[in-house]
Amino acid sequence: MRSLNMAIEALANIIIANKEKLTEIDAAIGDADHGINMARGFEAVRAKVAANTNDDIGAVLKMVGVTLISTVGGASGPLYGTAFMRAALAAQGKKTVDGELAEKMFAAAIAGIKERGKAVRGEKTMLDALEPAYDALTQGLASRKSLAECLEMASSAALAGVEYTKTIIATKGRASYLGERSLGHQDAGATSSYLMLTVLAEIAQNLGREE
Ligand code: ADP
Ligand code: MG
Repeated sequence: MRSLNMAIEALANIIIANKEKLTEIDAAIGDADHGINMARGFEAVRAKVAANTNDDIGAVLKMVGVTLISTVGGASGPLYGTAFMRAALAAQGKKTVDGELAEKMFAAAIAGIKERGKAVRGEKTMLDALEPAYDALTQGLASRKSLAECLEMASSAALAGVEYTKTIIATKGRASYLGERSLGHQDAGATSSYLMLTVLAEIAQNLGREE
């Protein structure tokens, strides 16, 4: 439970620490609130997790999802909320995460975002960080790398995905109103996804060292 709570806190901390940066990115091609939205949601998550005594990963991720849906305004709340709720379903009753479970949770999260947002890769959204990250994770697992290494690969792939969003036109979300003017700017949601993946990679590395 301690490492579970710490993992969720670390996710909350990175988003809260990047509140201004994410908002600035959203200011260029959106409505300048992504950092504000996400930080509000993760402040609420952080408060709840501080009191958490449940060690069921599914139950805790469900709490995260419900909290994000109910506190984050904007498109990203329901999308990330759904992602956490779907990952929660895959992790129901589990107390530890191995490669196989991580892959399942990640796949479920992405499927949830796609259903909810009706977006696909290449539309300048969080999916442009998440899908390449998932591909990197599955490739790493297939070549028998440790979960920590796979998450590191996933995080690098997500960063490449963020860079890629600068080169494409937004066709979903508010940035799509700008058409070609969205070129040259990175997507805010892809950036927050990348930040969360860097934290997950770090957590896996630290847990690996403790063993
Ligand atoms: P809003 O766009 O309502 O102001 P946010 O600023 O919090 O909400 O979040 C914007 C981010 O949400 C975008 O940068 C993009 O990554 C993501 N997003 C928007 N619409 C979709 C969608 N249909 N599918 C996937 N992601 C989306
Ligand atoms: Mg916005």
